[in-house]
Amino acid sequence: MASNELTCKELVELVTDYLEGVLPPAERRRFEEHLAGCQGCWNYLQQMRATIRLTGQLTEEAIEPQAREALLHVFRAWKNSGKV
Ligand SMILES: [Zn+2]
Repeated sequence: MASNELTCKELVELVTDYLEGVLPPAERRRFEEHLAGCQGCWNYLQQMRATIRLTGQLTEEAIEPQAREALLHVFRAWKNSGKV
């Protein structure tokens, strides 16, 4: 089970495919299962959707590598500060 779980990093890499609707159903299910339990990724998805609304399209440039790195730091900090 645990090995089947999507990590935050994987989710960030899959988010464009998800939003384009090209994720295979199994991947899509894992993606949504992770979202259901991860506030950081949920926020990230909302930001991506807002970006698409603003730019009218989804491009690789929409996620700059630095922004992506920053987000992953936020995820880690969020997990470490843990309510768990
Ligand atoms: Zn996550």
